[in-house]
Order: sequence, then C-alpha cells, then structure tokens
Amino acid sequence: MKNLKVDTASKHKHIASQEDQLLKCMKCGTCLSVCPLYAEIRYEPASARGRVALIEAVKLGKLDLSEAFRKNINFCLNCKSCVEACPSGVRADDLILCARADLVELGKFTFLERLIFRHLIKRGRLLPPVARWATFVGTLANKILPKKNPLTLFLPFPDGWKERIYPKIAKKPFRKRVPEVVTTKNPKMRVGYFYGCGTNLVYPEVGEAMVKVLTHNDCEVVIPKNQVCCGTSIYNSGDFKTGIKHARKNLKIFKDAQVDCIVVNCGSCGLTLKKEYQELLGVDFDIPVYDISEFLTEVIDMKSDFRTPNGETVITYHDSCHLNRGQGIKSEPRKILMELPGIKFVEMKEADRCCGGGGSFHLKYYPISKGIMRKKLDNLEPIDADFLVTGCPGCMMRFEETFRQKGLKQKVKNTIQLLADSYPDDENPNK
Ligand code: SF4
Ligand code: SF4
Repeated sequence: MKNLKVDTASKHKHIASQEDQLLKCMKCGTCLSVCPLYAEIRYEPASARGRVALIEAVKLGKLDLSEAFRKNINFCLNCKSCVEACPSGVRADDLILCARADLVELGKFTFLERLIFRHLIKRGRLLPPVARWATFVGTLANKILPKKNPLTLFLPFPDGWKERIYPKIAKKPFRKRVPEVVTTKNPKMRVGYFYGCGTNLVYPEVGEAMVKVLTHNDCEVVIPKNQVCCGTSIYNSGDFKTGIKHARKNLKIFKDAQVDCIVVNCGSCGLTLKKEYQELLGVDFDIPVYDISEFLTEVIDMKSDFRTPNGETVITYHDSCHLNRGQGIKSEPRKILMELPGIKFVEMKEADRCCGGGGSFHLKYYPISKGIMRKKLDNLEPIDADFLVTGCPGCMMRFEETFRQKGLKQKVKNTIQLLADSYPDDENPNK
C-alpha cells in the first residue's frame, strides 16, 4: 500500500489515496459470503462491499463523513476474511482504516479514545494499575449491582456488562519478572523480544515460556523495558499520527538494543511490527520481525530434545486472524504442535474463523461478538479438547472468558507454552 502522507487539501485525503482500491471493487459480493459479521446480522453496510460503497460515496462527494458513516466504518472486526476472499484483490481492511484516519483528522474521535490512545497507552507504566483497577471495578459491579440500575447509563460499554468476566491482570507484569538480557551458553543469535500488552499484563507466563524456549534454542534474549505498545488499537481506531509515534519509538529502542531480529508471540503485534508500520504508517521498520512459530520453524532449527510426557493431551488450534490472514502463518504453529510428544492434535472445523474478539470490537458490540463466538463453540464441542491453543493473547482472553461463562473444562494456551512445557525444566535462567 502507498504511503498515506499524500499532499492534498482534501477532507478525506486518506480515502483519496486509495482510489485504485475503490476502482477494483466490482461489487460481486464474494466478501459477504465470508464475513462473520454479515453472517450474524445480514446487514449490507457491515460487509466489505457495503463499506466500499459508502467510502466510494464519500470520495464522490455524495456522502459526508458523518456520525452515521463513522458508526458503520468502525463496526468491523478487521478479520481480513473479505480481503482473503476478494477475487479483485480489494484491500477493504486498508480502505476502512483510511476512512477512520480521515474521521480522526476531522476530530471525530471520542473522549474515551483520546484518553486511552493518546494518554494512557503512551504512559506504559500506568497501564497495569489502571487495568487492575478497571477489572476490579467491573467485576465488583457485576457482583453487587442489579442488572437494571441507573449507573448503567454511565458505562462506556453497556451491552452485556452483567455477564462479562474480565481477564485477571497479573500481580507482577512480565516486564518486571525478567532481566533486560537473558543470555545462554554460546548464543548463536541475539534476539529482541517484543512482548506486547496482553503478555505483559495478563499472560506473563507466556513471556516466561518465550524466554525458556529461546534460550533453550541458543538465543540470547533482549527484552527492552522501555518498549511501548505496538499501537495496533491506536492506528486501527484511525489515529495514524499517534500510531507513527509508537512505531518510531519501538524502532529506535530495538535498534539501540542491537538485535539480529525481533520475535513476537502475538498475531496482532506481529502484524503491526512486520507490516503495518511500513505499509500503513510509512515507518521504515527495517529490523526483521518474526512470529515465534515462524522463527522456530524457518529461521533456526528448533531443538526437539523433549522430555517424556505423562499421558496424552488432546489439543486443537484456533488461527488468529492477524497471524493467519495478516501474516500468512498457518502451518508453522501446527508443525510445532504436531511434533510435541504426548499431544494429540485434532483440527477443528473452520479453525480460521474469527472468534469475534476483534481488538476492542467485543467491548463495543458484545452481543454480536458472542454470536460469532457461538459458531466457534459449535465447532469446538465435538473435539472435547483439553486445550484450545492459539497464537494471540487477544483471542486467548476472548476464549477464556467464554469458557468460564459456560463452565467448560477446556483451558486456553499459547502455542509457545506447550512447547516450553515439553522441554526439560531448569532451562529458564531466571528461575
Ligand atoms: S470487495 Fe471484493 S469481494 Fe467484495 S464486492 Fe468488491 S470485488 Fe467483490
Ligand atoms: S474485515 Fe471481517 S468483519 Fe470487517 S468487513 Fe471484512 S470480513 Fe467483515
């Protein structure tokens, strides 16, 4: 995609830069057949074809960048199913983000978005206490307040609040659990680890598994403590300017760390660092970035000195949209999982169907997100897996909440945790 910083006085300069994408759409409707949102609500403006038509109307001056337009444009999972299926190669995902960028530049950005994206996320140290406080208040409100009460009027995300189960925020974030450099005997590579907010705040054990696996595979791991959020939720909301600041900051931090490459364990962070910084935000992020499954199967020769398992564990795998369709990583995690001893891998139907998380989509449109998740559960049920495995903390949170709500016994794990568990203990130099 072209650099979006086009020199135009137009009100919708980002949309204008995408004219070639608009021209490519032949209105065939193939995207409707794969859109999980359209399947749920059968509403044309919520599909890629509908959104392309709306954006085209803005471009032609037939429609304003109105509040109604903003609602339709924001109402998308960014699952990229439409992009994958489109016979004309229309990048509806980029078109939608460009429309959001024009809206933000016109000041159509809510107070909450401004507060979170421009102030809170920027100050990374504030995130753990704020997340802990927000989940505590939310959980307490669920327990003590009746479903119908006047306070509901003040909730930022009122839909389904009474049944939400919030993720447990770690007492000690990942970044405080590890030294800045974890070395090993005769390291073959110096690898930068971009851990991301989900791992740092909710799944520090995933970060520890990453360190164990990387050091076991003869990599020195550099974990810069001043790294900032990748910014995916920020630029996905249309705030490209703040997104660019995050990209530049992370680039400088990892350059200064003099690493050979960066590894990530989150589909969305990986997509951001690997592609979106460059292609969408125009920041030349010239350090190689790999998802951990890609790194282990394609960059280094992953060790397979596994310990003897105790019995058999049944697992299945859910493809994160941003890992699979965003980065084209589908076979790599399966290759790792199928190599592990004591693991029975059962492929679920429609493993690559979106779980309904969609970043902050599930917060804003909870009933619809729940409907999309229901289809995943229908496909999961016949497998009776011990673990649902995936490569994105965002998906992990959404599945965990659903399993807890339904009282299901299944647990959720990141691919790297199963691999770390299969290696002998005493490998983590931090222990
Ligand atoms: S976006 Fe692609 S799949 Fe959808 S209507 Fe246009 S050409 Fe067809
Ligand atoms: S990104 Fe997903 S939810 Fe959004 S229009 Fe495309 S298929 Fe539908």
